Amino acid sequence: MDEVYLNGQFIPRDKAMISPDDRGFLLGDSIYEVIRWYGGYFFDLVGHAARLRRSLRETRIVWEDDPKFEEIAEELIQRNELGTECAIVYFQVTRGVAPRTHAFPDPPVKPTVYGFARRQSINTLVAEKGVAIWLTPDPRWNRCDIKTTALIANILPYQEAHDKGFAEVCFVRNGFVTEGAHSNIFFVRDETLYTHPENNGILSGITRKNVISVAGTNGIAVVEEAVAADMIPYMNEAFISNTTGEIVPVTRITDQQIGDGTPGPVTRRLQMQLRELIQSCDPRR
Ligand code: PLP
Repeated sequence: MDEVYLNGQFIPRDKAMISPDDRGFLLGDSIYEVIRWYGGYFFDLVGHAARLRRSLRETRIVWEDDPKFEEIAEELIQRNELGTECAIVYFQVTRGVAPRTHAFPDPPVKPTVYGFARRQSINTLVAEKGVAIWLTPDPRWNRCDIKTTALIANILPYQEAHDKGFAEVCFVRNGFVTEGAHSNIFFVRDETLYTHPENNGILSGITRKNVISVAGTNGIAVVEEAVAADMIPYMNEAFISNTTGEIVPVTRITDQQIGDGTPGPVTRRLQMQLRELIQSCDPRR
């Protein structure tokens, strides 16, 4: 039942093997994508597929079967009998197996393509109560727009935040808040939504895009401008967004309480409106 996709085949997870010379393993020379399955349909598969293809283009990894991405994702759900469950599909493409060197393999080799599906529901408790997050200088490179598996610069600060009891770490670059280790961040001030612009400083989150879209259709003003870290005390609300958690209210950032320390009204409205958008994508409705 636990079947994964590896290089063109669906096989039991314990039969899946990759070479130690895989460039994803040796060099982090690899990209990935995560999509959410809502018990019968994927939400914004088009957006995730477009971002996967962009990551491939930007890293010059060639996966000739990339038109099959959507089909493979669906088959992973079916083969793992997750049709009516809440689940995620994880998908990764590496530059392939070759003797270790920085230069791309010449002649090129086939990429290693790996995917799995697993049951994963939304954490409704954190969505309801909100979380505290930790702020720290952004140690990452200048291509945060690429969804690469080379995540050590995300992992180390995240672990530090986790050890201190925070639910997420958010980064500050040149005095401005960029995004979280695995989420985008939004602030609300005077009923207006602020979030970092889409550029190489952040990953263009699929949830971020959908939040901006539902805010627009519901008359909430959105300003795609980064918020200065020293303006955080003046923000009325904050929340983080990602595929696995949708919208999670932020009630404290390091030592700073946000608003009255409970999820704010604009955040609540956006949570409901995003949920409605997600449900409206259910083909059975
Ligand atoms: N930013 C980073 C660094 C991430 O890793 C993620 C998701 O994992 C996001 C933002 C949110 O992206 P999405 O909404 O597409 O899940």
